[in-house]
Amino acid sequence: MLAKTLSIPHISTGDLFRANISQGTPLGLEAKAYMNEGRLVPDEVTIGMAKDRMLQPDAAHGFLLDGFPRNLGQAKALDEFLTEQGIALDGVLDLEVSEDEVVKRIAGRRLCRNDGGHVYHVIYNPPKTEDVCDECGGELYQRSDDTEDKVRTRLEVYHTETEPIIDYYAQQGVLVTIPALGKVDEVTERAVAALEQKKNG
Ligand code: AMP
Repeated sequence: MLAKTLSIPHISTGDLFRANISQGTPLGLEAKAYMNEGRLVPDEVTIGMAKDRMLQPDAAHGFLLDGFPRNLGQAKALDEFLTEQGIALDGVLDLEVSEDEVVKRIAGRRLCRNDGGHVYHVIYNPPKTEDVCDECGGELYQRSDDTEDKVRTRLEVYHTETEPIIDYYAQQGVLVTIPALGKVDEVTERAVAALEQKKNG
């Protein structure tokens, strides 16, 4: 929703990995074992893939990164890449929600097989027809790493590897923290307003 509102492409490293897995590429094969366990795919693979995507023509006028960077090594590699390319980082969005809420949101999440950007939730945002995408009629499914036990592992990984980048970006003065409780539209509006404010300084 953010990418749509801002008219920029949504670049999700998780989506890129899942596309590689469904196409059976070597990169997908390598990523699969890590993803199934809820662990991070090694930086050597992830950073190169993210850079390739950011260099695609549709990203020439800005992009929204989702799920990248996920540790300090990736954050530093991203900084170098952005400096090389002369791209400014307008803001880094930190969505604040309790851990219980994270588990509820992820365990109830359902995705469309045709487009991972079509996202539903069994309680908070159910499709009109069960297991069918409202937007394109695609079949909805639950990601194998979205079960409660996998989410708990992913949260542990988050705390040890990803959380430190909050401080890293706070020190750069680009961090935008918003409470992410509430309706999807409200949180989107809050995020857009906070990002615009940060961008305009
Ligand atoms: P996501 O779709 O963002 O929830 O990511 C799903 C899974 O893909 C993660 O649990 C990781 O195994 C892998 N993944 C996605 N993005 C990254 C990243 N930036 N670094 C390492 N692994 C990643």
